Amino acid sequence: MKKLCRILLPAVLICLLIMLACSRSKPGNEPESTETQMEPETVSEIETTAARTSPNGVELLPERTLVDPEGDLLVLVNRFYCVREDYVPELERAVAGYEEYLQPEAARAYSSMYFDARSSGVELYPCSGYRSYEHQKKNYEEKIAEYAEQGYTREECEALAANSIMPPGSSEHTLGLAMDIGWVSADFENGAAYEWLCAHAWEYGFILRYPSDKADITGVKYEPWHWRYVGVDNAFAISRSGLCLEEFLSSADG
Ligand SMILES: [Zn+2]
Repeated sequence: MKKLCRILLPAVLICLLIMLACSRSKPGNEPESTETQMEPETVSEIETTAARTSPNGVELLPERTLVDPEGDLLVLVNRFYCVREDYVPELERAVAGYEEYLQPEAARAYSSMYFDARSSGVELYPCSGYRSYEHQKKNYEEKIAEYAEQGYTREECEALAANSIMPPGSSEHTLGLAMDIGWVSADFENGAAYEWLCAHAWEYGFILRYPSDKADITGVKYEPWHWRYVGVDNAFAISRSGLCLEEFLSSADG
C-alpha cells in the first residue's frame, strides 16, 4: 500500500499542477492577434455562405459577423464582417479646412501625406472620409429602392445594392479609416494624384483597398479613389505582397 502511495502521490501532484497551469492560460487571457480572427475555418465558412443564389440568379448576401474594430488597424469589414450599429470612432479633421474626418492616427497620416503631395504639385483632395452608420444606411436604402423598382425581391435588392454600396456597418468609411480621394470615378486612375498615391501612399500607411484584379475577393469593384489606413508597417507589407487585405489577413504570414 505504501509503495502504491509513493507511486500515486507524485502522479496526482503532477496532474494537479498541470490542471492549475491550464486554468491560468485560458484563451481569454492571451493577447489578441489578427491571426486568431482569420483562421482557415472562417475562410471556408465564407466560401460556403457566399454560394447562396436566388431563383433569379442573384447571389445573395451571407449572414454577417460582428467585429470589434477598437484599436485594430487591420480590422476587416466587408460583405461578411460588419461593425455594430452604434459604433462611433474617435475622429479628427483629416486636413485643416476640409470637413472630412478620420480616426486621429489616420487623420494625422493623411494630413502629412496631403501636404507632402501638395509640395510635389499633387492635390489629394479629401472627398469623403468618415461616414456614420446611419449615413451609410440611408445611401444603401436609396440604392435598394432603385432595384426594388425593377421588381427584385428585398433580399435580391440588398445583394445587388451591395455591389456598389457597402451595407451599413460594412463600410470602411464607418471605421473612420478610409478616405475617398480626388473624385469618385474610374478615370481617377488616369490622374497625377493616383500615380502619386500608388508610389507613396504606403509610406503614410495607406493602401489601395479595392484593386481592379481583386474584385472577386473583396466583393467590391475597382475603386482607385478609395484608400484605407492600416499603419505604415502593414501598408508596406501589403503593398509589397500584391495581396488585397482579405488575402493578406488569410495568408499564413499575414
Ligand atoms: Zn470609399
